[in-house]
Amino acid sequence: MEEIKNSEEKKGFFKRLAEKIKANKGKTIVISVVAFVLISAIIALCCLNAYVFNRFATGIVPTDEDLEAVAGTYKRVVIIGVDGTGGYPGEMLDDDEGSLPNFKKLFVDGTMTKNGTKLNASLTYEGIAVYPTISAQNWTSMFRGVRPPYHGITGSSSNKELSEGKQPNEKYPSFVKVVLDAHSEAKAISSCTWDAVNNGTIEDSPRVIKMNTDCTALDDIVSGREELTGKGAAELTKEIRDVTAVDGFADPDYNLRDAVTVQRIIGSTTTEDAEDYEIIYMHLNQVDSAGHSYGYNKQAYARAVSRVDLLIGRLYDAFDGAGMADDTLFVFCTDHGHRYLQDGPGHGGNRDVEVEVTFAVSGKSVKQGTMGKYVNTDLASIVTYALGVKSPDVWQGRVPFDTFTALE
Ligand SMILES: [Zn+2]
Repeated sequence: MEEIKNSEEKKGFFKRLAEKIKANKGKTIVISVVAFVLISAIIALCCLNAYVFNRFATGIVPTDEDLEAVAGTYKRVVIIGVDGTGGYPGEMLDDDEGSLPNFKKLFVDGTMTKNGTKLNASLTYEGIAVYPTISAQNWTSMFRGVRPPYHGITGSSSNKELSEGKQPNEKYPSFVKVVLDAHSEAKAISSCTWDAVNNGTIEDSPRVIKMNTDCTALDDIVSGREELTGKGAAELTKEIRDVTAVDGFADPDYNLRDAVTVQRIIGSTTTEDAEDYEIIYMHLNQVDSAGHSYGYNKQAYARAVSRVDLLIGRLYDAFDGAGMADDTLFVFCTDHGHRYLQDGPGHGGNRDVEVEVTFAVSGKSVKQGTMGKYVNTDLASIVTYALGVKSPDVWQGRVPFDTFTALE
């Protein structure tokens, strides 16, 4: 008797399990199917969470009272769009606090204008791009407040199509159109090194000035067909002429084209005879170009971000010099990051370095510190809120928590 019991105990766990399964065949099949369905559902939910839910905005929809309270705080929103920067400025500042002095002053620490207004900064390096992490999809989501299946700029040829003038679904207007529709006197200006945002994303209107800094722009400046104006114009013109004198041609490199893109804004908005624009947009391309050539985190990529930092300084100085920084909301945004060189440079996928984006605002009603969850569809709602304009119900973006003191 004792021996039989011992041998029973010695039977392996799996053997006993097999015997039990044999005895309860029907029951086992049901349990297995249920377990399979449950595990599949959990895996599907995890994937959905990564690909879909994580990209859902979770911030605030300002009420009519919120909009009344903020109205008049800002005369304009200045948006510095830097293609392909990802969360990299955060890594640069972690490595070397002094590496991006202008970005740090305006968008990390906050700063005091020459007239004594404190501009506070709210930022994140862990904002989330829409999927796929392609430029056309993301910039259109940023301007139109909805994810790609809604605005309709989708597919792997989207950059080319948008550049050639493909129009997003008009059911989802850009923040430019929403502000101009709400403010009948308002005007907007958009200066882009990459032309797709002007050609496709932003609707045409007699009250929107669009400028694309194409490859011939530098030749025009060298030959005198275009004269740059505003603070820093003479120095930039000399730099372009010097490069041309050495190379024998105007190098269509993005470095100088981005500088012209910013200088055109300085000349159009901060000089004595300049127009008053409520929305001022710039699109810079040299960081994305460096990412495609060398990969995320490489020296050339870091140098491109540093050169953009100089342009941010030049832009801010021109605004502050003209006494316009006090009632401006400054925005820094980017569409996506880049892969490391060893993974094949480029973007479009779901790696953290492709998905995570830097997003920052600086202005007198901004809540100093780290903002709540930001996704790229949120840009549109932030711009309209700052200008006291109601965002369309169809937008999916929100104003992230901890961005503005008056919104809690
Ligand atoms: Zn891009």
